[in-house]
Amino acid sequence: MDFDFPNPVKIVKRTAREFAEGAIAPLVEKMETGGEFPKALIRKMGDVGLLGLLVPRNYGGSALGYLARTVAVQEVSRVSPAVGIALQVHHMQTAAVLDWGSKTQKEKYLPALCRGEYLGTVAVTEPTGGSDLLGMASTAKAEKGDYVLNGRKCFITNAHLCGAPVIVVKTGEGSRGLSAFIVDKATRGFSAGREEHKMGLRGANTGELIFKNCRVRAGNLLGDEGEGMKAALKTISEVGRPGMAAVALGILEAALEEGVKFAKGRTLYGKPISNLQAIQWHIADIYTEAETAKLVCYRACWLKDQGRECATDMVMGKVVATEAACRATRKALDIHGGCGSMLEFPIQRLWRDAMVCVSAGGTTEIGKLVMSRAALS
Ligand SMILES: Cc1cc2nc3c(=O)[nH]c(=O)nc-3n(C[C@H](O)[C@H](O)[C@H](O)COP(=O)(O)OP(=O)(O)OC[C@H]3O[C@@H](n4cnc5c(N)ncnc54)[C@H](O)[C@@H]3O)c2cc1C
Repeated sequence: MDFDFPNPVKIVKRTAREFAEGAIAPLVEKMETGGEFPKALIRKMGDVGLLGLLVPRNYGGSALGYLARTVAVQEVSRVSPAVGIALQVHHMQTAAVLDWGSKTQKEKYLPALCRGEYLGTVAVTEPTGGSDLLGMASTAKAEKGDYVLNGRKCFITNAHLCGAPVIVVKTGEGSRGLSAFIVDKATRGFSAGREEHKMGLRGANTGELIFKNCRVRAGNLLGDEGEGMKAALKTISEVGRPGMAAVALGILEAALEEGVKFAKGRTLYGKPISNLQAIQWHIADIYTEAETAKLVCYRACWLKDQGRECATDMVMGKVVATEAACRATRKALDIHGGCGSMLEFPIQRLWRDAMVCVSAGGTTEIGKLVMSRAALS
């Protein structure tokens, strides 16, 4: 077994870290207070190759794979988990178009997504429930060779920043009754609705996508009619979940750094509190959470990069990393004492960000259902 990253992955990690520290870090405070995603970052992320990590070269990407993508999202999230979720959801759309799109769709959308003309997203969740995919109410009705879309998606990452998102709606009943479409933002009857104000990941854009008699061509179908459930599940389980896991890995790294920094800098009884055994235990726990979560997540991505079955490992990584981030940020917050509650210390932001990662990409309960099914079979 070789636990070292291959060279291309090391380069991606270094590039993403430099980009995050240079281009994202100065924006973090404004994103936090304003709750807005800095649009100028989109092109810049395209310029350094972060947007096309899963896309082959002939469509404008680098196709460096899922391990490279995870360390890139992790490095970005170490500085800003809000930018991390925007990036990982963007990757979901690139993967969905690659896996299910026609040649025409790949040629039309992938280069634009890689350049950062706009961000990508995959819109599944509706007010009727995110966990219950078949409970969605939005429809696409076949009409004179076109489809007419009606409905409302909610909690969609990059809702106001995307250009031609992937939407999953009902075209029939049951598990063969969902279909995926790519819909250009400029299409009549398609608009972004309300923007959510979140407790964490505040700089990430989250909102509604609304369809009112929105007419699209049959060529906008992604895959065949009735394949929407399969496309949604594969994209969520093999791209969205490891993406949210990577955001959590970044939070874990940042929590460890903030905890260590504070413990070394805060003096009590004439010595840094890092000399107190209770504080050392907290540090050891945070360190262990971060390293064990990385092992589970990196292995799952390695399986995916080998073309092997990975859905259960991916969801395990998502649950392990997001729950670990919640526990670790709470411990790092404790190390800070009263300072942990003060807005000028980043740890309170990381703690709030970690909490939001638990439901985004599918909840822990749903993750456990998937894992238990695999174990019981
Ligand atoms: C920041 C953020 C970004 C997001 N981005 C996107 C996006 O880009 N695209 C998108 O489509 N969605 C997105 N979502 C939505 C996200 O996927 C859903 O919030 C998530 O799937 C949970 O759905 P829900 O919120 O409707 O909760 P519900 O499904 O209503 O669940 C409520 C509770 O019931 C539990 N529960 C549900 N079913 C079961 C069961 N069978 N057994 C046990 N417990 C159960 C859940 O675990 C949860 O605790 C985002 C969410 C957030 C917070």
